[in-house]
Parts: sequence; C-alpha cells; structure tokens
Amino acid sequence: MALERTLSIIKPDAVAKNVIGEIYTRFERAGFKIVEAKMVQLDDVLAGGFYAEHKERPFYKDLVAFMTSGPVVVSVLEGEGAVLRHRELMGATNPKEATAGTLRADYATSIDANAVHGSDSVESATREIAYFFGK
Ligand code: GDP
Ligand code: MG
Repeated sequence: MALERTLSIIKPDAVAKNVIGEIYTRFERAGFKIVEAKMVQLDDVLAGGFYAEHKERPFYKDLVAFMTSGPVVVSVLEGEGAVLRHRELMGATNPKEATAGTLRADYATSIDANAVHGSDSVESATREIAYFFGK
C-alpha cells in the first residue's frame, strides 16, 4: 500500500453534536496522522464548488444548505492506503446501510446529515485537498 492523503470533513451535524474529539480519536486509533486541520463556516460558493460534481442531482440544493448550516472541521489525514481505509471507517453514505462500528453508523442521523465526508479516490483527494488547503 502507498502512503496517501485524503480529505475529511466533519459536517455541521457532528460538530453540533460535540463529537469532533471522538471522531479525531477514531482517526488516530485507525492509524491516521492528522496533517492539516481547520474549522470553517462554508458559504454557498465554497460548499457549492466543493460538491460541483453533484450539481445536477435533486439533493444538491439541500446538500449545500446543510453544509452551510454551521461550522465544519476540514482535515487532511495521512496513512497507508488512507483514501480507501478512511471510506471504510466512515461507512455507507446512508447511515441505515452503514456497517456497525463505522463513523456514520455511530454519528449520522440521516442520508443528508451523515456526519462526515471523505474523498472517494486518490484523484478526488488531490483535488479536494487543494480546494481547501492549496498545493
Ligand atoms: P459520499 O461520498 O458517501 O459522501 O456520498 P456522495 O458523494 O454520493 O454524496 C455527497 C453527499 O450528498 C452525501 O454525503 C450526502 O450528505 C448527500 N446525499 C447523497 N445522496 C443523497 C440523497 O439521495 N439525498 C440527500 N438528501 N442527500 C444525499
Ligand atoms: Mg462523495
């Protein structure tokens, strides 16, 4: 496995639930190194641009409204095979389908308020990290 970096966002629902620390602990226990981190209040432009790939989807407006509803914590995680391993730690997009013990099974409330974001490929990770942290 290669050493990779991936983008994590702790979404507004999880920040509001006071579980930033618990989620960070789960990252660290899984062997990830947190190499960048910041708390951000996204606006429509920043959230809309981040989710541009979903622009034509029926849930896009709700997604942008949700992501701008409160502060988020944006982090870069580093580790062997980080992109896939982070997706496994997060669990399925819909918490009803997420495996027990995953972040979404434990912290998400619904398919939109699903606690965390994680890059879905090495290419997405590179683009998303640059989007929030520059090169
Ligand atoms: P992810 O990579 O697992 O986060 O999922 P996607 O990239 O497919 O979707 C991005 C985000 O849009 C998800 O995390 C959800 O917050 C939201 N989302 C995805 N599908 C739906 C849906 O069918 N309905 C609603 N309301 N939100 C959705
Ligand atoms: Mg995605």
